[in-house]
Amino acid sequence: MRKLIIPFAILFVLFGQGQIFSQYTAGKQSNFTKQDRLRGSITPERAWWDLLHYDLSLEFIPRKKQIKGSNVIAFKTLKPGKKMQLDLQPPLKITNVIFGKGKLKFEREGNVYWVYFKKPLKKGKKYKIEVFYEGKPTESKNPPWSGGVSWKKDALGEDFIATTAQGIGASIWWVNKDHGYDEPDNGMRINITVPERLTAVSNGRLKKIEHDKARKTRTFHWEVINPINNYGVNVNIGNYVHFGEKFKGEGGMLDMDYWVLAQDKEKAEKQFKEAPRTIKAFEYWFGKYPFYEDSYKLVEVPYLGMEHQSSVTYGNGFQNGYRGRDLSRTGVGLKFDFIIVHESGHEWFGNNISMIDSADMWIHEGFTNYSENLFVEYHFGKKDAEDYVIGTRRNIRNDQPIIAAYGVNKSGSSDMYYKGGNMLHTIRHVINDDKKWRGILRGLNKDFWHKTVTTKQIENYISKRAGIDLSKVFDQYLRTTKIPVLNYIILGKEIKFHYENVVKGFAMPLRVKINGKDYSITPNTNEQTLKVSDEIETFKVDRNFYVKAKPIRC
Ligand SMILES: [Zn+2]
Repeated sequence: MRKLIIPFAILFVLFGQGQIFSQYTAGKQSNFTKQDRLRGSITPERAWWDLLHYDLSLEFIPRKKQIKGSNVIAFKTLKPGKKMQLDLQPPLKITNVIFGKGKLKFEREGNVYWVYFKKPLKKGKKYKIEVFYEGKPTESKNPPWSGGVSWKKDALGEDFIATTAQGIGASIWWVNKDHGYDEPDNGMRINITVPERLTAVSNGRLKKIEHDKARKTRTFHWEVINPINNYGVNVNIGNYVHFGEKFKGEGGMLDMDYWVLAQDKEKAEKQFKEAPRTIKAFEYWFGKYPFYEDSYKLVEVPYLGMEHQSSVTYGNGFQNGYRGRDLSRTGVGLKFDFIIVHESGHEWFGNNISMIDSADMWIHEGFTNYSENLFVEYHFGKKDAEDYVIGTRRNIRNDQPIIAAYGVNKSGSSDMYYKGGNMLHTIRHVINDDKKWRGILRGLNKDFWHKTVTTKQIENYISKRAGIDLSKVFDQYLRTTKIPVLNYIILGKEIKFHYENVVKGFAMPLRVKINGKDYSITPNTNEQTLKVSDEIETFKVDRNFYVKAKPIRC
C-alpha cells in the first residue's frame, strides 16, 4: 500500500499544472467501462455531425451553488443522422432540447444524453439545437486536478468562483460534445449572469455587459471567434478589476488583458510583467501567438492555474517558481513565474495544436514542459536552459509509458511532462541544428494551426522536417518506460560500445567527449569500436542526451 500512497503525495506536491493523474485509476484495458468508451471515442452518434459554434448562456447562483442555462449548438451534418450524443455529467440535468419550433426526445445513459431527431437530418446541411440544463454541478475538490465548480471566497469574504474541467471533461459543467477531436470551427459565445456586484471573466473578448436592475444581476457576454478546446472553456467570477497593455508581436498588436481581485492589483501589476516577455520568447520559438483575434488574458483564480484558451488562469501567488519552488533544483526555476510561462506555452501546444485523444496528452504537456527551457534560453541563455531541463529529470518516474490506452479518455504517466521535455531536448541535440529545430517548432504551429492531431502526425512531421527517422526514438521514450543505456568499455586507444534496454532498431546518435574532444557516434545494439590516436583517459556522453552511460567491468 505504501507504494501507492507515496507517489500520490509526491505527485500532488511536485507535479500537476493542468494534468489529471488518471493513470493511477485507469487500471487495465479490460477495466474500461462502456461509459469510458462513450466518453473517449468518436462514437457513430458523434461522427455524423461537425461542430460549428456554441452559444452558452449560464447563470451562476452562488447562494444555492447552482447553475442554470442553455447551450445553442450549431453543427453541420457530415452524414445523415438521427441520434445524437451529447455529454453532461450528473448531477446536472438536461431539461429540454429545442429544434426549430419543436422539442426533441432525449434520454440519459450515465454521463451521456441521447437526443433523437424526429427524422434523419440530411447530409451537408447546417442546423442548430438549443439544450437547456440546470442543477448543482459537481464541486471541484482539488482544482485544477479535479474538475467542477469551485465556490470559494476571497480573502475579504467575497465570492470567488471558478470552473475547471481538464481530464474529467467540460461536460462536468456544461453540455457539449465532450471529445477532443471536434472543436467549434467558428468559436463560441459565453454569456454569464451573476449577482450584480460580481464580475464574470471567460474566454475571448468582453463584448458587452447587461445590467438587470430588477433581478439585481449582470450578464457578461464573452466571445471567442477561433476554434476552442472544450476543456479550455472557463468561467471565473469575483470582485475583479481590469488592467491591460498592448504587445507588438508577430501578428500585429496583441491586446493583453489582466483581470485580478481588486486587492491584488498592485502585486499583479508587478508580477504580470512576466506575460509580455513570455509571449516574446514563445513567438520567437513557436511563431505568432495563435489567438490575436481573441486577445491574451491572465485571470486570477482561487487555484494554481490552467491553460484556458485566451484566458490563462493564474493562482501562483504573484511570485516566481512553482508556488515559490524550483522544480529543477538548479536555481533557474526561480528566475520566472512558472504558471505564467507554462500555461501560456499551452496556447501553442494544447490550444493551437490540440490532441484528438487524451492518450496523446504529451503533445500538450511534453512540449509545454519543454517550452519552459526555451523561455529560459531566450531570456537567460543556453547554459541556464540546459541546467533547467536536465535538472527536471529528477522528477521522471518511468512508472508507465507516456502514451496511454486510446479511445477511453485516459492519459498516460505524468512523465509526459519532464520526460516529454527531455525527449524533445534530446531530439534537438540529435538534429544538432538549432535553426532547423526552431523551424520545426514554428512549422508545427503553422502547419497544424488550430488543428486537432494525433501523436503520429507530430512524430512523422518532426522526422520528415529533420530528415532523420526518429520513429524509434519516439517509440523508446513515449511507448516504453526504459531509458537507453550505453554500455562501454575502454581498452587503451579504443572504446567499444553498444545500447542496451532499447526498442528494436533503436540507433540514436550521441555526442560524446573523449579526452575532452567531441565525437559523434551512432550506437545500436551491436558492439562497435571507435579508435582514437591517444590512450583514452576520459569518456563522457554529452549531458543533453537523456541516456545512461554504463562502463562494463572486465
Ligand atoms: Zn500543462
